[in-house]
Amino acid sequence: MSNRGIPCLRRRGALFVVSAPSGTGKTSLCQEMVSRLPCVRHSVSYTTRPARAAEVNGRDYHFVEHAAFKSMIQQGAFLEWAEVYGQFYGTPVAPLRQWRDEGIDVMLDIDTQGAAQIRAHEPDAVLIYLLPPSWDVLRERLEQRGSDPPREIAKRLAKAKEEVKHYRYYKYVIINDDFKSSAGQLEAIIVAERCRTAMLDLSGLEMMLSQKEESC
Ligand code: 5GP
Repeated sequence: MSNRGIPCLRRRGALFVVSAPSGTGKTSLCQEMVSRLPCVRHSVSYTTRPARAAEVNGRDYHFVEHAAFKSMIQQGAFLEWAEVYGQFYGTPVAPLRQWRDEGIDVMLDIDTQGAAQIRAHEPDAVLIYLLPPSWDVLRERLEQRGSDPPREIAKRLAKAKEEVKHYRYYKYVIINDDFKSSAGQLEAIIVAERCRTAMLDLSGLEMMLSQKEESC
């Protein structure tokens, strides 16, 4: 019997899209996946919204003026973009393509409009919706974050109920009650999706199998 291994390589990196109402904790969960799993990157979006106190340009977002954002739209620099709470947000296409070509999985933490654009253009993208355990918990989280004025929090809460309806278009749903348990669920989804037949390049195995058939 041959002791050669089964030739099984990964195809391009996968695309994971995580959406949730603002304050549900999706950014922390995406960052947790980057620290837990090898070969995962979290895409840094461009936005016209002003930076919050603890945010760092280039790490949390690329903060740009409206004119710069518009010119990026015209240059086709975004995989998707949307207007959210009166500000523009977009996913830069270049780093994402490069990572996926290198076999690195990419996590996007974007709103439901952006996810709908990705669903239309990237049929293999894995869409995951994160639900808050209750509306009260969501309000508390937004207030505790202390980064948005009350008017902005009210705007985000009012939009949350409309947003949640979009869970129907997502492949997976996670209820973010407890961070550790949600991180475990998200990790399980990523690990399982990496094993999907369609995510693997099994042409070497096919060649091996056809050689064996010929030698019979
Ligand atoms: P925040 O201002 O709280 O950071 O984000 C507001 C909303 O914009 C969140 O739902 C967040 O997921 C979404 N968002 C962040 N980056 C992008 C992006 O590149 N594209 C889209 N469509 N939404 C984004």
